[in-house]
Amino acid sequence: MSIRLSELETSRTGVIERVHGQGAFRKRIMEMGFIRGRNVEVIRNAPLLDPVEYRIMGYNVSLRRSEASLVEVIPGEEYQIEAVPRVSSCDSGTGTFSSPGEGKTIRVALVGNPNSGKTSIFNQASGSNERTGNYSGVTVEARMASVPYNGYRIDLTDLPGTYSVTEYTPEELFVRSHLLDNKPDVVINVVDASNLERNLYLTTQLIEMNVRVIIALNMYDELEKRGTELRYDDLGRMMGMPVVPTVGFRGKGITELKEKIVEVFEGTDPVARPVKISYGATIEASIASVQQEIMSSGLATGRIRSRYLAVKLLEGDSSVKGMLSGAGEPDRLLLNCARERDKLSKAYGEDADALIADGRYGFIAGALAETLIGGARQTGAGRRDPDHVLTHRIWGYPIFLAFLFIMFQTTFVVGSIPMEWIESGVSSLGALAGSLMPEGSLRDLMTDGIIAGVGGVIVFLPNILILFFFISLMEDTGYMARVSFIMDKLMHRIGLHGKSFIPLLMGFG
Ligand code: GDP
Ligand code: MG
Repeated sequence: MSIRLSELETSRTGVIERVHGQGAFRKRIMEMGFIRGRNVEVIRNAPLLDPVEYRIMGYNVSLRRSEASLVEVIPGEEYQIEAVPRVSSCDSGTGTFSSPGEGKTIRVALVGNPNSGKTSIFNQASGSNERTGNYSGVTVEARMASVPYNGYRIDLTDLPGTYSVTEYTPEELFVRSHLLDNKPDVVINVVDASNLERNLYLTTQLIEMNVRVIIALNMYDELEKRGTELRYDDLGRMMGMPVVPTVGFRGKGITELKEKIVEVFEGTDPVARPVKISYGATIEASIASVQQEIMSSGLATGRIRSRYLAVKLLEGDSSVKGMLSGAGEPDRLLLNCARERDKLSKAYGEDADALIADGRYGFIAGALAETLIGGARQTGAGRRDPDHVLTHRIWGYPIFLAFLFIMFQTTFVVGSIPMEWIESGVSSLGALAGSLMPEGSLRDLMTDGIIAGVGGVIVFLPNILILFFFISLMEDTGYMARVSFIMDKLMHRIGLHGKSFIPLLMGFG
């Protein structure tokens, strides 16, 4: 009955039965919502039939066919899932956050999904002008800025965007080690309010890492536009972190955010507290067993830290495994962990990592069920129409080639007009200088050296300006992301990701 997701036809839906494969990729797509019982819809194929765009949990994601063939689905429109909520409550942990260090410098890290608006908030808060972009992976490294506020110094770090803090991409590992090793005083989790369900997955992982988090509920304008109401104060209380609505690119809510940073840092915020996501009795028993082992072998101190490690081990996280095998009695610990994983997969017919991802989504669904009222829960519908043409099976490439043609043609044809002006301006300036100055090496330096040299460079300015105008047009309209979708198969042939087309194109600049 069940088929591979890659066999599902366009505009059909199916219900996910199981994710095959192993290791980081499997975990990655589970974290993106490909878990048992979820509906998935085939939106469209790229022109060369690969990759394929799917819709899950209210957002669109592209998978290569080889990847989609690892997902088993049951085709059908209205498949009913047996609703067994494995996560019922979030009880508050008994511990408190460790108290912040001395001094008035607050180290703050910005984390969030790609495109959630981190860089916009970073720029607004610090008055700087870092690049923002409408596709993922614009921020590839951390950027820092110091902002004075009310006698404090807030050191902001803008981290790369991630969907999760596991180990699938270098960005994820980078963010994770920044959070665990640098231990920022406060973490701002920038969340796209128009796609809460997926964005909050990262938040659930932050809860487990026991860092002090403030949620910046960004794109709040989009949420309001759809007539949705979110009781964000209640949501914050459930998750143990204050929530501040923001509109990143307009700078709304930034002052409130700074105010909150100080409050959370000083421990005066009433909402911030450690919260425990409970995974249900059976899984909790396994966590407790592994946690006990970690505590007794002295690999971690503190209840919360050991819980984090235990959950990670049950998930099969290889970097935590590697970290632990360096010390103590790793063999017994890992053996015990393998036994617990076995036990769980026998009990539920699913692997432990799937169960845990499922549990986190269950926690989010529970929290949103109580706080999100009215409106369409997810966006995306409005964006489908232009995509229909821009990534069309037949028209996608001609449109792209036409765009490139117009871009380069304009750059050189239109650009040649001001280019001529500059050329004649430079040569008449050179002639003027030549006629005014007495003969000698100084005159040669002026006319042949400085004027001709600088003139030879600025003559390209019109070309560069026009080309960059087109490139930013492509970026800001989101066409660049569509280009990487249609180029993926071709780029993959030479061992690159479709995204690599973007720097290739920008290189022309
Ligand atoms: P990052 O990838 O998380 O750094 O996100 P960016 O700061 O680059 O923002 C991604 C896109 O979202 C940009 O085009 C921004 O102009 C836009 N954006 C940022 N904040 C908001 C917001 O509050 N509302 C809306 N509608 N768009 C926003
Ligand atoms: Mg960014």
